[in-house]
Amino acid sequence: MRRLPIYLLLDVSESMVGANLRHLQQGLARLIATLRTDPHALESVFLSTIVFAGKARTLTPLTELALFYPPRLPAGSGTSLGAALEHLMDELDRNIVAGSAERKGDWRPVVYLMTDGKPTDDIEPALKRWHAKYAQRVTLVAIGIGAHAALPVLHRLTENVLSLDVNGEEDFKRFVDWVSRSVAAQSRSVATAGGGVNLAKLDDGIMRKIGALENAGTVDEDLVVLTGRCQTNALPYLMKYERNLHHLGQGGLDMKVDLYKLTGVFAMEQDYDELSDARALLRTVNTDALVGSPGCPHCGNPIGFAMCGCGQIMCIRGEGPATCPGCGKACNFTAGDGEGFDVARSRG
Ligand SMILES: [Zn+2]
Ligand SMILES: [Zn+2]
Repeated sequence: MRRLPIYLLLDVSESMVGANLRHLQQGLARLIATLRTDPHALESVFLSTIVFAGKARTLTPLTELALFYPPRLPAGSGTSLGAALEHLMDELDRNIVAGSAERKGDWRPVVYLMTDGKPTDDIEPALKRWHAKYAQRVTLVAIGIGAHAALPVLHRLTENVLSLDVNGEEDFKRFVDWVSRSVAAQSRSVATAGGGVNLAKLDDGIMRKIGALENAGTVDEDLVVLTGRCQTNALPYLMKYERNLHHLGQGGLDMKVDLYKLTGVFAMEQDYDELSDARALLRTVNTDALVGSPGCPHCGNPIGFAMCGCGQIMCIRGEGPATCPGCGKACNFTAGDGEGFDVARSRG
């Protein structure tokens, strides 16, 4: 029995948190359920799930389809694509059985890489290693999710770059079904013809193949994600703001003002820290540009956007003394006086 190794290399960075990550989680379950109805896939497919944010981690080692249980997807800060590729190549080295005179090795592995952002680490060493040793014997399908995926970067990895434009759950299901059909087609092709790369016909409504010369253009910083920490249980939470361009037309002057509107607040688990970049990701954003201030999703404190002098964003009940979950120091909050701290925004 020759194995057909399928690797899912999934971006679980903070920009994915929310609908994308939920869809991915549901999609994983749907993918497995669908593939299990396919006799060829059941016979040959082995799956592995690797996630990456600031760091990469294997959630499921290469496991035969019948025994594969979809793991819970964690999240973290950062998009270390370089680290993710290095991790993937180490896994390939460890797990892929090469053919020899005595035994038949694994079929050519297929990697589905999904990401929605730009790499935050240096990917050059990983790219070099990939092209030197892996590109010839591993099929990589890179899928950029949404408008901000760094498609040109993905194109330096592989010819197979797809841009996915999903609008809600139904679209994502169609995409997952496309992955299922591609994996099933691949397992049929190794069973009958012994090779070749088989991707199912693209579902034009939601995805398109990106040509090498078609660059995605410059990516705007349309998303601001701020990480807070709950004063009560010390767990992290994410506040997502999306850009909203405002035109202030006055007396023939057209002034554009960037405002970021709150679109969601998400409670994170402890493993958020484990997958995050150790180095601080300092993104400065003028708090005046942020519209909307959420409460804490962990403990229900009404103000989720207070800042300690150390830079840690935390939740507070209101004015008065508090303890910073970042540095452990006692601080005292008063509305809007800026001595080492300020309650950045009132409810917007
Ligand atoms: Zn809290
Ligand atoms: Zn602090």
